[in-house]
Amino acid sequence: MRDTAVFFSGAYIERNTLLRHDPAAVAAAWAAPDTRFLPVWQAQPLIRDGAAARLTRAELGARLPEQAAAIYLGVESGRHLFAVALEDRDAPPGPGEFGGLRDLVSRVSAADAGLLAYARAMVTWHRHHRHCGVCGAPTRAEDAGFVLVCSSTNCGHRSFPRLDPAIIVLVHHDQHCLLGRQPTWPSDRFSTLAGFAEPGEALEDAVRREVREETDVAITHCRYRASQPWPFPASLMIGFHAMATHREIRLNDGELAEARWFTREELGSGTIVLPPRASVAYRLIEDWFDSVPGPGLATLHRDGEFLRRPEQPPDAR
Ligand SMILES: [Zn+2]
Repeated sequence: MRDTAVFFSGAYIERNTLLRHDPAAVAAAWAAPDTRFLPVWQAQPLIRDGAAARLTRAELGARLPEQAAAIYLGVESGRHLFAVALEDRDAPPGPGEFGGLRDLVSRVSAADAGLLAYARAMVTWHRHHRHCGVCGAPTRAEDAGFVLVCSSTNCGHRSFPRLDPAIIVLVHHDQHCLLGRQPTWPSDRFSTLAGFAEPGEALEDAVRREVREETDVAITHCRYRASQPWPFPASLMIGFHAMATHREIRLNDGELAEARWFTREELGSGTIVLPPRASVAYRLIEDWFDSVPGPGLATLHRDGEFLRRPEQPPDAR
């Protein structure tokens, strides 16, 4: 598979994870004069001048929270970055624009899209875990915001940042690939199958179950190819190729409006709309498409307006 970055991926920040366990080092990073802060207000990150807003201490002023409430994101170009939640009831004033992540990420660089998603995911996790899930006592942050610990000495339950693993799979069989259409999509839009892994289930088992549930197609084996964060709010899409034993389809669980087998000729004809090129879904399709001699999928895309309009990547559910 090509190394081209997918949404919300890439080495956009040095996470500097070892520093989180050193309170003195975290305090020094917090106090450093060139440290910058990524504010998140009501799950909305901030952009300014077409980039993720990296505010100074002076720009935040009285809105700067206590260090204990901030989350250490890492180092970027020698500067420490913290995510900070703004508790204002109304949108805070000042330069820049708070907005929904889906809206903002199309207006910044791929690296800044990753950074905004990272900051928002951490702040959202804090907002959703203000109290202990075991005993209900308030939590407090440790490890620079990466652990939330119950404040009750009788409990001490520790929570860690949440990720929801979801499989996404391109199923193929004898020069055909299997794509599905969700009920809310236009009639010509198709993508790979996807679904959440469940507790007590290996990812390969989730691939077999989801494909069977959605299309009644059986899988002989599957192979991991690539992954993509999908932070709405906390999914991680884990991409596979899988080989089917047959091509009979029956829609079992009602999640899909339609599922069809496509040949390369059909995909290359421009009659259907595929996911955007920076999605792991497109990478899976392209990887399969380009595994035989002939024009690549990206060539057909560029020359034949293969993607006729911008599309959101497939959600996992
Ligand atoms: Zn507790």
